[in-house]
Amino acid sequence: MRKRRSHFRRSLAELESDLETTRVRIQQLENTLRGVVRNLDNISIGGPCRCGESMLLIRQKKIFCPECGYQRTM
Ligand SMILES: [Zn+2]
Repeated sequence: MRKRRSHFRRSLAELESDLETTRVRIQQLENTLRGVVRNLDNISIGGPCRCGESMLLIRQKKIFCPECGYQRTM
C-alpha cells in the first residue's frame, strides 16, 4: 500500500515536470513562430482555429487555417 502511494506521488511529480517542460517548449515555439512571421510580409497569427489543429493565419485581409483549409475574408 505504502509503496503504491509513493509510486503515485512520484508519477504526479513526473507529470508535473513533463507538463512544465511542455509548457516551456510551447512558449518557445510560439515565440519562434511569431519571430519568423514578423519577417514575412503581410502575414500574422490569429487565434486558434475551431478545428483545434492550428492557429489561424491572416494574410491580405484573409484569415485561413493551414490545417483544415478553413478561410474567410476579414
Ligand atoms: Zn483549422
